[in-house]
Amino acid sequence: MPAPFTDWLCDWIAPRRCVGCDTVSRDTFCAACGAPDPIEPELSEDGVPIHALGSYQGPLAAAIRRLKYTPCPALARPLGAALAGVLPRAVLEPGSVIVPVPLHPRRLAERGFNQSALVARALAERMGLRSQPRLLSRVRETAQQAELDRRARATNVSDAFTLSARAPRSAILIDDVVTTGATVSACVRVLVAQGTRVIAIIALARTTGRPPLS
Ligand SMILES: [Zn+2]
Repeated sequence: MPAPFTDWLCDWIAPRRCVGCDTVSRDTFCAACGAPDPIEPELSEDGVPIHALGSYQGPLAAAIRRLKYTPCPALARPLGAALAGVLPRAVLEPGSVIVPVPLHPRRLAERGFNQSALVARALAERMGLRSQPRLLSRVRETAQQAELDRRARATNVSDAFTLSARAPRSAILIDDVVTTGATVSACVRVLVAQGTRVIAIIALARTTGRPPLS
């Protein structure tokens, strides 16, 4: 199928680039970087499936670091679109709200954007759903999860989140990188306590090693 005229026009004005290495590429990841290897969904400690584009390594990790630290917020769009491609249809429940894990207001002010909220918006546009970037608030400033062991990570984020608006019937939670799942689980508990069914947790990447700084 030929590319739509709007795609051609966009490519002519600003050629698409690889999210991993920034070379001109029609694909999200160029041939040299290669697309991340798919990984099987894993259940969070609350029994919610965690879907991700791949493991936090190589070009995918490079893309996430570029998104957050370069910073390059425009990368949220192709990464969100790529996420839409790995999600099973069961996740596309009409009426579900895509909810990003919030940053603490201080970190949000430092960076100027919440990378998870941008990915949530891009994903929502692709899936014909709504994202609600301010549904959850981070009310407690927490230590960087990267600096803590597994047990300390769970304690660190418990009671860190509250609901800022009416709870939706069903939600999909999104974070950039999921490590032990402590942060997303703290968010799941806040939503479930208000009657929301959390259908899935979506991450750009999953890591079993040391998490990146948030
Ligand atoms: Zn590349």
